[in-house]
This record gives sequence, C-alpha cells and structure tokens, in this order.
Amino acid sequence: MTDSFPQILRRDPRAEWIARNRLHPLHDSVMAANGAEVRGPSGLLRKNPHVIGFIGPNGIKRIDRANTSSGLMAGKKRSSTTQDVELPLHQVIDPTGYIVVVPDMVGGRLTTHDKDILGLGHSLIKEYADNMAVVAVCFGESKETQFELAGVDRLIHLSSAEYEGFSPEARLAALQHIHQIYQPKHWLFPDSINGGTDLASRLSARIGERAAAQAWQVSIAQTVCRGASASLDIKRETPRILMLLEECGNAINETRHEVLPLTLDRFEMTDTRIEDNGLVDVDPNAVPLAEAEFILSAGNGIHNWEQFHACAKALGATEGASRVAVDDGFMPRARQVGASGTWVTAQVYLAVGISGAIQHMQGIGQCDKVIAINTDAGCDMVKRADLAVIGDSEEVLQALMALANERKGVLLDDALPKEENHVA
Ligand SMILES: Cc1cc2nc3c(=O)[nH]c(=O)nc-3n(C[C@H](O)[C@H](O)[C@H](O)COP(=O)(O)OP(=O)(O)OC[C@H]3O[C@@H](n4cnc5c(N)ncnc54)[C@H](O)[C@@H]3O)c2cc1C
Repeated sequence: MTDSFPQILRRDPRAEWIARNRLHPLHDSVMAANGAEVRGPSGLLRKNPHVIGFIGPNGIKRIDRANTSSGLMAGKKRSSTTQDVELPLHQVIDPTGYIVVVPDMVGGRLTTHDKDILGLGHSLIKEYADNMAVVAVCFGESKETQFELAGVDRLIHLSSAEYEGFSPEARLAALQHIHQIYQPKHWLFPDSINGGTDLASRLSARIGERAAAQAWQVSIAQTVCRGASASLDIKRETPRILMLLEECGNAINETRHEVLPLTLDRFEMTDTRIEDNGLVDVDPNAVPLAEAEFILSAGNGIHNWEQFHACAKALGATEGASRVAVDDGFMPRARQVGASGTWVTAQVYLAVGISGAIQHMQGIGQCDKVIAINTDAGCDMVKRADLAVIGDSEEVLQALMALANERKGVLLDDALPKEENHVA
C-alpha cells in the first residue's frame, strides 16, 4: 500500500530558518541533528560546509577553532549540551620520548596559539608513530583548569617566585635542565611577543641548535616558515627547536589527556642579573589596537562621547569604534574595528551600542571574551556575546565608571604603607 504513495518529504521551515541563521541560539542543536547535510527549500540535499569536520573540495578539513564543539568555552550557551560528554582518555604509558611545548600562558591561561601548538605536538607524534608524550612547561602562577582537554600528557609546573614576571635567566636554566634530562625530540614555542620567541632564541643559543622562526607548516621531515615580512615561504629540514605561528596545528578537541606531573630534581641556578620591576603604566590608547588586550568599543548607541572617553580612562581600556561612529566623526579612522578597519585579538572586547553587523563581527572573531551593552536584546552583538547587559549605554557606563573608581580607591588604600611597616 505504502509503495503506491510517493515519498512525502516533510519539511520544518522553522528548523530550516534556524539552520540558515548561524547566530540563532538553537543553531548548533539543529545543525547537530541535521549533520553535514541539510534539505534546502528546493528539496535538494545541500552539504553544509560550516559543520566541523567537513572536508572541502580542496581537501582541507574544517576545524573547530573556537573549540565550541567540545564545550571548552565555558559560559557559552552553545556548549552546554556537549559539556557533559566525556571524551576518550589518551594515555601514554612509559613514553619513549617527549615533545616539549612551552606555552605563553598569557594571564595564566593557555591561549589559542598555545593550544594550536599542543595540537601540533600530537600530530608530530602521530607522524613519528612512536609512544611519545607531549609535555607542557609552565612558569609562574597558572589559572588553567583544562590542560587535559588541550592535549597535555605530562606537565612541568615551575611555580616558585623566581619564575614570576620577566625572568628569562631562571626560565632558561630550567629549560636547559629539562633538555639535559629528557632530551626532547622537539621544543615547540609560540612565535610571539609574549615570551615564546625570547625564550626559544635563548634556548637555541644556549644548546647550540638553530631554531626555525615563523614556522607554520610542520611535518617531521620539513618545515615551512614565513619569510621577508610574510611575503615568501622558506622550506627547511625540521629542526629540534621551532617557533610557531598561530594556526600551525589543529587544537585537540576529541581526546582527554592525563596531565601527569613531571618533577625536576634540584638544579643549579646561575646568578640572575635581570630584575623585573613590574609593569610600567602606559596610556592604553598608545597600544596599537591590534595588540590591545582590553578594548572598550563605541557604536551608534553612544550618545555621550565625553563620558565614553572618561569611562575608557577609568577602566584602563583601549578605545575602539564601529564604522558608523567613525563615519560620523566621533572617532578617528585608526580606531575602527572590523573588516575594513583593524582585526583585534583582545582578551576582553566590550562593545557599547554596537549592533553586530557582519563586517564588525569579522574584526572581533579572535577576541576571547565579548561583552555587549545594548538596549536591543535581540541584536547580533548580544547573541555573540559571552555576557550582555541590556540597558542604556549612558546609564551602564556611568555605573561601570563608578565601580572602577571605587575599586581604584580601594587599591590606593591598599597601596598606602601600613603603620607597622614604618621604619623608625
Ligand atoms: C564594505 C563595508 C565595510 C564595512 N566595514 C565595517 C567595519 O570595518 N567595521 C564596522 O564596524 N562596520 C563596518 N561596516 C558597516 C556595518 O555594516 C554597520 O553599518 C556598522 O557596523 C554599524 O555600526 P553600529 O553597530 O555602531 O551602528 P548601528 O547598526 O546603528 O547599531 C547601533 C546599536 O546601538 C544600540 N543602541 C542604540 N541606542 C542605545 C543606547 N542608548 N544604549 C545602548 N545601546 C543603544 C542599538 O540597539 C543598535 O544595536 C561596513 C560596511 C560595508 C558595506
């Protein structure tokens, strides 16, 4: 009986609409249900190139750069469904060798750059087809809680006071000691201004191994490095020490790792001549927008510009702006964030009165945490944000400024010498 009826295709227009709207809160769950193939409005089966793992016509596999699929982005609505999934444990018993990664750990946490490099460590081990482990060496205070999801098989955490701040001599002594004991197959460092390049260069000079800088395609046989201001590629044999660019590898997102501690026995520390006197106060607006860690960005929803500048000053934030704010003459062109402005990589991007047009979103794709202040709870910036405050920009900035100043007052009090510390 059923054979005489044609197969009726049942469509769900709402699900199709959500599948097309990547910013919809239910987008991920609908896509997960549909997989990589979606039935289009014409009835044709469409392949969805945005699904993680999709292999494009050029043979390149789409990776989960933001790690949203493994539930690593705590606080994001989209990860809540996957957070409980226990990933398979990757164990390395009695490793035959080591690949050592020295992550930057900016702010005490692994950066996306660090995670790319840990991922690369594992792909090199796969190529070697050997029972090797990836070791991470961390200095100073660590706030990282997800080493196991980033691919760390073994961890050397040197947390004593001599490794805090800018301490290249102490760190180099530790790396040299690790080199003598473990004889790593490779040393992997981020090629970055956050310490990776500096340490890698020092280690390279100390142990007499020529490092590869600006490396971005690495196999066990050959390394491709960017040269001449990234205008050409230089191929060379893969050396022991590598300074790696972002996106040199795929961050781990399918396995859990053991993070077993490796201890170092005592070693002789040479005299240190460099003293870290702490950070110097700089004008946040003197920091190039592309390098700023904390950006307060203004859009068309700012109506009190004096207050905005005062708030940026109180928060110690670098100022950014949407194109509308720039076109209207409220902010200089150099402050524009977005596709036709600057692409920023801030740890925190605070968008005030910015709707979240795609051209603006392109510029903030690499930001770690986005906070939106907007009157429109349904705008794209609020959908993208990790935290949103729905309210009038002027009122919220006023409250924020008051809090910042209050906190500064507390810090100033803390900084004042206490009576018992006075020397008679
Ligand atoms: C080729 C091209 C390139 C472009 N490049 C860029 C680019 O690089 N960067 C860029 O930013 N744009 C760019 N644009 C422009 C982009 O399309 C948007 O027009 C622009 O980003 C919108 O800026 P906005 O969000 O500040 O303004 P609007 O879209 O007007 O949004 C204002 C927001 O403020 C909110 N708001 C209003 N009043 C208040 C209040 N009192 N309190 C709190 N919130 C309030 C509103 O709800 C709204 O969400 C480009 C466009 C084109 C065509």
